[in-house]
Amino acid sequence: MEKLKRTGALIFIIAAVLLLSRISSTMWGGKPEKISTLTRLELAEGMTVREFAARNGLPESVARNVFGMHNSESLDREIESFGFHKPELLGKTNRSLALFQEHESKNWVKIPVKFALWIAFLAAVFVLLRKKKISAGRRIALYGSAVLVFGIILGADPSPMGTVKDAIVLFGKSRAVFPPRMIALGVFILLTVAANKFICSWGCQFGTLQDLVFRINRNRKDTTGLFRQIKIPFFISNGVRIIFFLIFSAAAIVYAFDIVEQIDPFKIFNPKMIGIAGAVFISAIIVSGLFVYRPWCHLFCPFGLVSWLFEKLGFYKIQVDYATCIACEKCAKACPSNVMSVILKRNGVIPDCFSCGTCINVCPTGSISIRAGKRAMPPENKFSKRTA
Ligand code: SF4
Ligand code: SF4
Repeated sequence: MEKLKRTGALIFIIAAVLLLSRISSTMWGGKPEKISTLTRLELAEGMTVREFAARNGLPESVARNVFGMHNSESLDREIESFGFHKPELLGKTNRSLALFQEHESKNWVKIPVKFALWIAFLAAVFVLLRKKKISAGRRIALYGSAVLVFGIILGADPSPMGTVKDAIVLFGKSRAVFPPRMIALGVFILLTVAANKFICSWGCQFGTLQDLVFRINRNRKDTTGLFRQIKIPFFISNGVRIIFFLIFSAAAIVYAFDIVEQIDPFKIFNPKMIGIAGAVFISAIIVSGLFVYRPWCHLFCPFGLVSWLFEKLGFYKIQVDYATCIACEKCAKACPSNVMSVILKRNGVIPDCFSCGTCINVCPTGSISIRAGKRAMPPENKFSKRTA
């Protein structure tokens, strides 16, 4: 009966996400994020910058950018006077055009609002986690709020994943770097370093949706799955993620092709953009997310890989006090992935820790907390005695 109820809850949540996101994305409007490049330029002898812009269908601001002209300079200067060769001019034009299209496709009101809310929300969750005040029920409520605010209301873009993916694709298509995206990426990395992957943990719209789905299939104490949940060995999940990242980057840089665009699961928050391949892939991620913890994050997400690397520099992180730990390993069993087992025993490469706080809740001696500094090593034989 409980399993049936939870299955109903999952269907309801996904239907609500799709329906409400459809309404919200229509209300926000906005232009599609599409980078078109020119394969050749229309040039003629004696052509001025103004004529160059008109013949190639470029806004005047783009033409100014191509030739490095200030607003006060006259567009009637001949382009030959700049001394660019044809291929160089084509490259510069495509770079300027791409940056213009990027700028035009963004909602410059929504973006700062979303970042301000992200920072405020993450700060509040951090305080709760530090005080060990995130119970199983509160965790679900917080994930639900993150999905509602950062996904349904504020949409698929921007997202931590998008900053990495779009930066690589833009560079692949036009060799351009969009400065606002680099600033956003810097903020996401800072949030990752400040407190263990915190933007993925509690802020990312699709990450929190997957976490919500996974918790739907857990008992009330959030310690074990109702339907069996499995933990994929980290060397497999990370291996797949690294290979996917390399294939995606090669396709973007060598062939200017965006693999992720076809299957982007963040489009669940902009459903009218989902194609057939996307629908199949997103459904597979959502359903498998009941049994495997955050499958997209662990197996495919480009930012997931980047943030796993930066997590190593983390300031605040999940730590164990071995003076009070009784080596019962309840934390490792309740942890949705293999990470707590490695944090506890320090017996391998530490996988992604999503700072969910489940380990903090279940520890019978209160030995786990999120705190600053380097993790201690367990005393020798602390765990080997029990497993012998
Ligand atoms: S790893 Fe997961 S939580 Fe982090 S950006 Fe990717 S989808 Fe979001
Ligand atoms: S170690 Fe596991 S249970 Fe603990 S915060 Fe990290 S992901 Fe959650």
